[in-house]
Amino acid sequence: MDIINHVENLKEDIIEGLKKFISINSVNPRGGGPGEKEVAEYLESYMKTMKFDEIKRYDAPDDAVKYGFRPNIVALYKGKKPKRTIWFITHMDKVPAGDLSLWETDPFTPVVKDGKIFGRGAEDNGSSLIATLFGLKTIMDLNIRPENNIGLVFVSDEETGSDYGIKYLLKQGIFNKNDWYYVPDSGNDEGSFIEIAEKSILWLKIITEGKQAHAATPNVARNAHRAAIYFAKELDEFLHEKYNAIDKMFGRVPISTFEPTKKEYNVDNINTIPGTDILYFDCRILPQYDLSEILDDINKIKEKYEIKFDVKINIETPQIEKAPAPTQPDHPMVIKLKESLKELRNIDAFVGGIGGGTCAAILRHENLPAVVWGTMDHTAHQPNEYIKIAHLISDTKVYAHLMRNL
Ligand SMILES: [Zn+2]
Repeated sequence: MDIINHVENLKEDIIEGLKKFISINSVNPRGGGPGEKEVAEYLESYMKTMKFDEIKRYDAPDDAVKYGFRPNIVALYKGKKPKRTIWFITHMDKVPAGDLSLWETDPFTPVVKDGKIFGRGAEDNGSSLIATLFGLKTIMDLNIRPENNIGLVFVSDEETGSDYGIKYLLKQGIFNKNDWYYVPDSGNDEGSFIEIAEKSILWLKIITEGKQAHAATPNVARNAHRAAIYFAKELDEFLHEKYNAIDKMFGRVPISTFEPTKKEYNVDNINTIPGTDILYFDCRILPQYDLSEILDDINKIKEKYEIKFDVKINIETPQIEKAPAPTQPDHPMVIKLKESLKELRNIDAFVGGIGGGTCAAILRHENLPAVVWGTMDHTAHQPNEYIKIAHLISDTKVYAHLMRNL
């Protein structure tokens, strides 16, 4: 097939494209990074060398970066007789590198080793961003026009709630009700998993206020750190015990998850009792559960610890996203993807749900059909994140094949 050969011919360019994406630090500003401006400029300049009919920027104002905005790129390749636009949406922001001592190589210097490309953003979301870009380039280079419009969207801010990314774009009147939305941002290592549902997301920021004092005089202190860790321990146990349902649709993590994650700085020295303590939970909750009931439970436990340790505990929810209704398992956009996977890789793909937080959930909230797919080993957010080159190239072929048939 000519599209397959063409992707093979583009292989070095595809690898270079992903290496370039990794080499530009686009860590989300709310994770302490410089944001997406530089990587967006690079992508836009590359896209101008392709046969797009339209490339537009939608910059969302944001004071968190000195340049004052978060870029979003929306590009169109028009179809022969379009009934709709089929969108491929990936994100340009990355999570921070995390503990550098756990990395074997520099996270922002791409390294090719053992058939893999290493670096922050290699899998999440660089591989799919580059694969959709070069999948479309393949059909452009071969002068193939699909029936429908193909839209490529590179968004900001996926990693911290999407206010400056897909949520901003949804307000711009770009998207239509009968359009289709592919969001390649997750998948399994065979490429056989098509995600049509997500869990609810609940982030907790737990701020405990007591009274700071010398560690030798706890009688005049109210130790915020002790109150927080006792509270967090009970919370952790309680949530796991009460909300313990299993839903097989969610494959390898068929349960609700409640993870204590970030811990903020409190005091500099060992001999000071902290007056303030701030810690966080990331919770991914099966759609059957009511988030307000969970929050009520959390508040009841909180009150117990406020009294017990004579502290004030404030709970904020930096992200709270109720799981939307799933995309229909027999939606034509699911069927088309299954057909491409069968024809190219002889895979019988299956549908299911994941832990959530991709742009697809936000689209589904607007009753737009969204499907998540990709071939990856699940190294996102980890040290030594990588993508296998074979997966990157193979997915590019799937996108070229799929786009041609849309
Ligand atoms: Zn992602």
